[in-house]
Amino acid sequence: MAQLGQEVLTVVIVGGSIAGLSCAHSLLHCHKLQEADVGTTAPVRLDVVVLERARRPTDAGAGLGLDPSSCDILTKWGLPVLSETAPLSYEENRIFHHIHQKWVTVSKDQSYAHRAAHWSDIHRILYDSLPNDVVKWGHEVDAMDTTADGMHVNVHFKKGDSSVSEMISANLVIAADGSMSETRRQFLPHENRRYCGYYAWRGVLDASSEKAMNVKATLRQQYPDLGHCLYFDIANNAHAVLYELKGGRLNWLWYVNQPVPDLSGSSVTAKADDERIERMRMEAKHVWSQELASLMQLTPAPFINAIFDREPLKQLVWGRVVLVGEAAHPTSPHGLRSTNMSIMDAAVLGECMTNCGWQVDMALKEFEALRLPVVSQQVLFSRHLGQVKQGLTPVQLPDLLISNDFEWERLLQRNMHTQSSVIENHSKGCINWHSDFQI
Ligand SMILES: Cc1cc2nc3c(=O)[nH]c(=O)nc-3n(C[C@H](O)[C@H](O)[C@H](O)COP(=O)(O)OP(=O)(O)OC[C@H]3O[C@@H](n4cnc5c(N)ncnc54)[C@H](O)[C@@H]3O)c2cc1C
Repeated sequence: MAQLGQEVLTVVIVGGSIAGLSCAHSLLHCHKLQEADVGTTAPVRLDVVVLERARRPTDAGAGLGLDPSSCDILTKWGLPVLSETAPLSYEENRIFHHIHQKWVTVSKDQSYAHRAAHWSDIHRILYDSLPNDVVKWGHEVDAMDTTADGMHVNVHFKKGDSSVSEMISANLVIAADGSMSETRRQFLPHENRRYCGYYAWRGVLDASSEKAMNVKATLRQQYPDLGHCLYFDIANNAHAVLYELKGGRLNWLWYVNQPVPDLSGSSVTAKADDERIERMRMEAKHVWSQELASLMQLTPAPFINAIFDREPLKQLVWGRVVLVGEAAHPTSPHGLRSTNMSIMDAAVLGECMTNCGWQVDMALKEFEALRLPVVSQQVLFSRHLGQVKQGLTPVQLPDLLISNDFEWERLLQRNMHTQSSVIENHSKGCINWHSDFQI
């Protein structure tokens, strides 16, 4: 309830995907908690609006993993995350052992404690539980400028097909406009995304048909913990990922080294024609276990996802504009960090606003200090995992097998926060030979 003389804090969030909707939840949640405190009134009245250029929610996407912190945060915001996701209790890395001619487990983490979800389910949960008037679909932001006193940002946008530009004056702009963020480009016009040297084939098989159920039953012979486990199969210069989503859907990826594939515009995904899909399926029989190859064979419409990241930034805040999610730290997917970082960004931003009494500049300073080192490390560790698993480091899989002293445990995602030597090597450019693949 607004109090007489209470200042209105207008927050404009650009982008209504996972990061944008999470930020809306976090701010509204923190504000409500403060209001609910006996005898306390939040120092401002909060007005949050999300401007999203897509016309409506989509059921696109595939699988993602939520870490324990994300699950706790979403639950705290009152979202039914546990009932909408499947357990991912273990992480397991396997390699094909040419001498023994079989897949062997090289490292396993039994305390992984993640949850698996379909992107569209998480997006739907986030969207459905926001107040009706928060998200404005079909609103494309095309410019923003800061007032001379630095206190407001004028956000210009167009609705649907209209050519008329409208404007909102915001006290705070949260740029959650994804890996090709125009907001980021405004501050860093010469910086670009970095192709990681490989793309992924991706697919989700709904295992409800009889044929699919048979494939699933045979998969379990090779992957006995399917339904609880995130499997990585590492072959020569390639690796594959397999895990199950809620409702028995089987989610898989196969990373393939090659120069950047044909993509339209700034998209990172591309449809593949029938001939290309058929070639992939034939090749799968020579690279993966028979069971995984059968899954790839049966999955309808597998698609291509080119893998990009960016160099970590030196700042996340420009005046009263803050970058979050993929706009701030686009990452390769090997650490399952993208969605988790977005949710954590949102949670930390909300906490900072509360701690700083909704004083925007102070809160943004605190946010940047807390998040920048963490997200930078995670982007670089994910990059490292991708390079090792794709054989893009000087030491490749056959050498690793022969040398017998490679610590496979180092590939587990639980090292995400601790492997500072990896990060140092990267920053010195020691194991980064394909970084020329820039577009
Ligand atoms: C349709 C879709 C499907 C996805 N599927 C998966 C998946 O299966 N697995 C996975 O791990 N990740 C998936 N992702 C990516 C995933 O959402 C992100 O990696 C991560 O969750 C962080 O999201 P983000 O909100 O920072 O960025 P993104 O998800 O990239 O969202 C950015 C949003 O900003 C909007 N936007 C951009 N520019 C403007 C503008 N000028 N004005 C208004 N709006 C703008 C975009 O339309 C988009 O909705 C998907 C993303 C999308 C958009």
